[in-house]
Amino acid sequence: MTRILIVEDEDRIASFVAKGLRAEGFSPDVVEDGHEAIELVRTGRYDLVVLDLGLPGLDGFSVLRMIRSERHELPVIILTARESIEDTVAGLSSGADDYMRKPFAFDELLARIRLRLRAADPQEATVLRAGDIALDVRTRRAHIGDTTVELSSREFTLLEVFVKHPDQVLSRAQLLSRVWGLDFDPGSNVVDVYVRYLREKLGHETFETVRGAGYRLRVTKM
Ligand code: CA
Repeated sequence: MTRILIVEDEDRIASFVAKGLRAEGFSPDVVEDGHEAIELVRTGRYDLVVLDLGLPGLDGFSVLRMIRSERHELPVIILTARESIEDTVAGLSSGADDYMRKPFAFDELLARIRLRLRAADPQEATVLRAGDIALDVRTRRAHIGDTTVELSSREFTLLEVFVKHPDQVLSRAQLLSRVWGLDFDPGSNVVDVYVRYLREKLGHETFETVRGAGYRLRVTKM
């Protein structure tokens, strides 16, 4: 069982992430204080750390510095509410493997966690396939047959959800939640807009519109 330590003092975010990870078969623990986080990391029980920067007691940067001085190989993904790019760059240069800015979509965090765990375990496959679509989740590049398709980060995440559920109808609500992290319909047609972007890049017939239900990735071309 892959053990993940979530260091986060906002209950709502911590329980949202822990619940999601549990549903995906991981074993998450939550701690909200920087000093306690260091003690837990020192037990050597964890395979990856999700680390908030603004913490009571000891901040995330100090926790990160300790992890890097004692456990070089442990993957760390920073969660940050701070807008300043300097903070993020400081985080990365002090040894974080990746970072996510809040608010974030759970699926994107999950994708990055899987990526970091795979990087730590090079045996694991990094390419997801459905029909002639191949997604390299390490480089975040998409290929259709032999052609590389340039996708924005959001387009990639959306396509990744479809590729994981080939031939399955995905509702707008499911896509909003998995790609945009929204549990409500913002009343915009953002899903339709992004499906249209993907159709422009991958071919209109790649996605079937299922009236009143959502969209389906067509794996077997007609
Ligand atoms: Ca915080």
